[in-house]
Amino acid sequence: MAIATINPTTGQTVQTFAPESEADIETALDRAVSAFAQLRGTSFAQRAGWMRRAADLLEADADRAADMITLEMGKPLAQARAEVLKCAGVMRFYAERAETFLAPEWLPDPTAVGAARAGTIYRPIGAVLAVMPWNYPFWQVIRFAAPALMAGNVGLLKHASNVPQCALYLHSVFSRGGFPDGAFQTLLIGSARVEGIIRDPRVRAVTLTGSEPAGRSVASIAADEVKKAVLELGGSDPFVVMPSADLDRAVQTAVSARTSNNGQACINAKRFIVHRDIYDAFAERFTQAMAALVVGDPTEEATQVGPLALESGRAEVAALVDDARAKGVTVRLGGVLPEGPGWFYPPTVLEDITPAMRIHQEEAFGPVATLTRVDSLDEAIAVANDVPFGLGSAAWTADPDEQQAFLDRIDAGTVAINGMTISYPELPFGGQKRSGFGRELAGAGIREFCNLKTVWMGE
Ligand code: NAP
Repeated sequence: MAIATINPTTGQTVQTFAPESEADIETALDRAVSAFAQLRGTSFAQRAGWMRRAADLLEADADRAADMITLEMGKPLAQARAEVLKCAGVMRFYAERAETFLAPEWLPDPTAVGAARAGTIYRPIGAVLAVMPWNYPFWQVIRFAAPALMAGNVGLLKHASNVPQCALYLHSVFSRGGFPDGAFQTLLIGSARVEGIIRDPRVRAVTLTGSEPAGRSVASIAADEVKKAVLELGGSDPFVVMPSADLDRAVQTAVSARTSNNGQACINAKRFIVHRDIYDAFAERFTQAMAALVVGDPTEEATQVGPLALESGRAEVAALVDDARAKGVTVRLGGVLPEGPGWFYPPTVLEDITPAMRIHQEEAFGPVATLTRVDSLDEAIAVANDVPFGLGSAAWTADPDEQQAFLDRIDAGTVAINGMTISYPELPFGGQKRSGFGRELAGAGIREFCNLKTVWMGE
């Protein structure tokens, strides 16, 4: 895939970028090693100062950064701006909290192990390669970079090939904030060059946010090199609605949960699993609300759903819907490719899904919702869990026993009751099953790329 800015609203190529040469990569890896030697010797307070300065710069640049996001991947401008500001928030969060998250833990009674002092300390591990997707081109990167740099690690970013302007901006913001040269570097490279970098001894670990095939490839190379990997992969999140739910709020939240980010979030709710007592009412109101969404130019204030980011991505969504249609799905709304420029796909609602349809098991990365009618709590949970993924989930019910059952039995990294899955700096984020392993954000996220060192000290 060429490294280029291609405006998904028009399909026009705006700018292409030459990939890094082998010599450039060599220089960047050496620079990362030098930067680590420097950064590991700095204090939390020093790094926090640089991080806060970078957050201030990002906030001051919010409009320009949001324009860049919308140009490169088509997110409605207001959502792009919110993404940038959320990034500044997580940078300040780790500036404030990193030292506490990584505080030593000493045994209260070290004599139990025959020591004068014993416990654990966290230390940085070195250069971490981050392979990142285009769908939240700032947030996905910053939620890795902020804790990594605060822990004293250094970052190498291989961003998605369709967001090079975002990638270069992210490189600049950390150096302008004051971090040493090489502490955070963008490498403009295609995915074929990731393997060599993971295998390079100067790189100590890798994190990938993206699709399952990319995750499998990166994790198997990392395993071959016995290097740590964190994977944040796809999801086909369930959104369960039970009879006691507040239907107005459930419908309203369901529409946002399916269509935010133009329907291209790993944690978008994708499968709506509804108890038969309220199925008809939910289906009708949800379909009406999906039909009322304003689809169009993402730079227009009123737009709620913009184009899909990639032409190939739109083709995949269309293929999933066409496959279901050929196998007898009922199309309540949408499902037809629009005429005209840009990679738009309409809000779409499908029902009567069968196991023979690809969409029954695969992730629909666009504004396409499926509706499934269930008879009971047990059936709702069984349908929710009947996919290879386990990222986010939501369940709507006022019944405390049902709430507990969802918390206990849904296979997911996150369960939201009477809400939708959202990532917050304060809460860990990640998945299970084929949605990946490891956690980002909160204390768990900053500890992923630290060496938990056991300390035993005699007299
Ligand atoms: P993708 O095609 O897997 O790309 C993600 C990144 O991986 C890009 O930088 C891409 O580079 C690179 N890549 C692709 N194939 C690779 C390979 N074989 N080896 C090494 N690197 C490779 O995913 P996407 O289409 O951009 O993003 C959508 C997917 O990401 C969805 O499945 C979504 O659910 C998932 N996602 C997950 C999370 C989460 O936190 N769990 C968050 C956001 C998105 P190129 O661009 O150069 O191909």
